[in-house]
Amino acid sequence: MPFNALGLAPELLQALKPKSYPAPTPVQSESIPPVLEGRDVLVSAPTGSGKTAAYALPLLQRWISASLAHLDTPHTRARASPQALILLPTRELAVQVGQTFRSLAVHLPKACKITVVFGGVSINPQMMGLRGGCDILVATPGRLLDLMAHNAVQLQGLESLVLDEADRLLDLGFQDELSQILAVLPARRQTLFFSATLPESVLTLSQTLLNKPVRVDVMPQAPQPSVIMQRAILVDRTQRTQLLKHLMTHEGWRQVLVFAATQHACDMVATKLRNAGISAEPFHGQLSQGKRSQVLADFKAGRLKVVLSTDLASRGIDIQNLPCVVNFDLPRSAVDYTHRIGRTGRAGQAGDALSFVSPSTQAHWHLIEKRHAVQLKLEVLPGFEPTEPVPVADPTGGVKGLRPSKKDKLRRSF
Ligand code: AMP
Repeated sequence: MPFNALGLAPELLQALKPKSYPAPTPVQSESIPPVLEGRDVLVSAPTGSGKTAAYALPLLQRWISASLAHLDTPHTRARASPQALILLPTRELAVQVGQTFRSLAVHLPKACKITVVFGGVSINPQMMGLRGGCDILVATPGRLLDLMAHNAVQLQGLESLVLDEADRLLDLGFQDELSQILAVLPARRQTLFFSATLPESVLTLSQTLLNKPVRVDVMPQAPQPSVIMQRAILVDRTQRTQLLKHLMTHEGWRQVLVFAATQHACDMVATKLRNAGISAEPFHGQLSQGKRSQVLADFKAGRLKVVLSTDLASRGIDIQNLPCVVNFDLPRSAVDYTHRIGRTGRAGQAGDALSFVSPSTQAHWHLIEKRHAVQLKLEVLPGFEPTEPVPVADPTGGVKGLRPSKKDKLRRSF
């Protein structure tokens, strides 16, 4: 189905042209029509599936219709309250979603004010930015509450609410903030629920918020092997930086996103790569927001070859045409593995996902493989043959990761 069969306004179709999307992705073709009709939707779709445009396009179209209906009094309603509010868990996702909205709004008949607010930076410029209101507000929950407390934003005229990455909003403990925000929103509104996974907590919340939703399921939860080429390489822990450098040279990677377990490891490996003449920067929660934005912008613009990240970048972040992801440290869980490797192979493009497995993490790797029902050949590269001893299997089981879980510790105390 082409985009012009979805009932979208010519201004939006025109904005899509430079993006050269071949056709709507499944989440777009299934979500756009019901959202245009004003229905609630419950969508399970991973990032990378095109879900942002799946709600941004129909919400902008609803804004066009509403603003045309207020021709005599342009912006009156918008000045009082945004028409749509998008709540999401992280600053990076907020910036990205704001950019998508803006790029799709370039040809609208009237200027649509799209405002993005998030924590970790001074609130004053955001309060100034909200003076006179806005039409579409993209916000992280904590900062939105702060702005509400300062009377900088009114929400009583809201018509559509989007919860993006609802599962992560709950994972990150935003439940209380969400409840406070939901309490002041008009009861009569459209609610759009987007989540990568639908655990019990998310389904329960969706039941309290949604009115006869149209359900759209565009999982694959598991990575698509045809798109993402997964590899696992057996290597001593102490040889991993060397191996990374070796692969950078021999595999001809244009860019690579490398996941490490700790902020310290990210800093350390980035320094080692820089010392070897490879442009590399760490990306983690300890860095200032300014630095994080800079690193991301540089990476997206191709000015940086390697970004070393904690799981901060494993979800939500969209880097187009990222050819390769490396698990320098294995992720704690199979779900984290899915999210990490999903940073490559976006929107159907090919990508490589490599995991460095050490003798001591081999058992954990097999658990991840088992959860994904895959079995990769553990490669050994010449010059990087592992010499570390394989640890004796823990007879109590429970090899979950590098850090023992509560259960592991409890078992050991017996
Ligand atoms: P998202 O799931 O919103 O994070 O989008 C992931 C990526 O898919 C973004 O880089 C979009 O530019 C891209 N994208 C969105 N819609 C389409 C489409 N219809 N065809 C191809 N790529 C798309």
